[in-house]
Parts: sequence; structure tokens; C-alpha cells
Amino acid sequence: MVGAIVLVVAAGGVFLYGCSAPSWNFPVRVTVRGKSDGGGIALTFDDGPAPPTTEAILDLLRERQVKATFFLCGKNVERYPEVARRIHAEGHTIGNHTYSHPFLYFRSRRFMAEEIDRTQQAIETATGARPRFFRPPYGVRWPGLGGVLRARQMRLVNWSDTGYDWKLQTEQIIRAATEHLRAGAILLLHDGLETPRPRPVDQSRTLRALPAILEHAQRAGLRFRTLDELLPAAPTGTKD
Ligand SMILES: [Zn+2]
Repeated sequence: MVGAIVLVVAAGGVFLYGCSAPSWNFPVRVTVRGKSDGGGIALTFDDGPAPPTTEAILDLLRERQVKATFFLCGKNVERYPEVARRIHAEGHTIGNHTYSHPFLYFRSRRFMAEEIDRTQQAIETATGARPRFFRPPYGVRWPGLGGVLRARQMRLVNWSDTGYDWKLQTEQIIRAATEHLRAGAILLLHDGLETPRPRPVDQSRTLRALPAILEHAQRAGLRFRTLDELLPAAPTGTKD
């Protein structure tokens, strides 16, 4: 009896771990890297739009002629549609990061669909474009999510590298973000900060770390690509 309980708890632990490990293809197919030919890497920013950091990042990217990808939360797009419009107008890719940034553990298919659809709608209303990439909050997947994404022809994209900019100081962010960078990498940073408990947004460390991250990648011969460029849509009729 005790043995059976231990087994069930252990299996549950492995299941939950599998749903949260950023690169596990479980229970949904996950993309964490793009094509490596041409030395492309993708810079991705989650949780915005979050003024003033998003705008400051956009200014810096424009100055350095770098294109990136922003995974936006629907509720933030409704609050700052003009910032979402600017991201799109300046040639960056926009992805869907749910409406309210929930953990997706134990969520129904219907709940996940609503979070995604409300955000698609908010982004399309603000920018005229409809995202084809989805990144779940905290990278977490749950059974049923794969079907929701397939029905919308959306692709789940997590990350291969991260600066842990929600917890580290500037110098550590630079090191964490750059130490394993190689062609095909998808790097996670944050222009906003959605947390289970509301906190004031302060992503100034990300902003301070960004110039050094850009310079490191350029010195290493890497080129910044949007996810649209790094993960081109498969031609119709083929399976990717
Ligand atoms: Zn997030």
C-alpha cells in the first residue's frame, strides 16, 4: 500500500516536472531553438507591453538596428495598445503570452483556449496582425493545450537560453544570457514582470544588461532574427 502511494506521488512529480521543463516535448510539442544556418538567434521579451521599459527597449533596438520578438499578455495590450502598435510597426514579431498570465497547471482546455483567443483578439485589434507563436507563462504546458494550439495553427515556443532577468542583477544577467549562446538560440528576457502576486514592474536591469548582450552576440558573429525569420512557417502540406 505504502509502495503504491509512493509510486503514484513519484509519477505525479515526474508528470508535473515534465509539464514545466522548458524544453521537454511533453505533453505538447515545444520549440526551443531555430535553424542555426546563417548564425541567427532570436531575442525574445515576455510579459509586456510594460511602459516605460518596453519603449526604452524599442528605442535601443532601433538605434542598434536589431529586430526581436515580444510575447505580449492580452490584458497589457488592452491597456497599452499604442505600444503594441509600435512594436509591430517597427518590424518586430509579436507572440501570444496568454491574457492574464496564469499557471496552466490543472486548467481546462476551454480556459486555455479563452486565454489564447482573447489575446489573439487584443493583438489583432491593436496591430492588425495575428500571432502564430505562443509561449505559456513560466513555460508550463498542460494536457489539452496541444489541441488548442493545433486548431489555431499556432506553435509553442519556449527558450534555449535565459538571462533570469526576473531575479538576477545586471552583471549576472549578462553572463547568464550570453554564456551558452550559439546559432539557433532563442533567448528569453522580460520587458514586463508578471508575477503570481502583483509587484511594481522594474525591468531596468534588463535594459541595462541589453547593450552588453547585443555586443557579445555581435562579436560572436551571431545575427538577430525575429522568430518569423528563425522559425519560418512550414510550406502547406508538409509536417514540421
Ligand atoms: Zn511571462
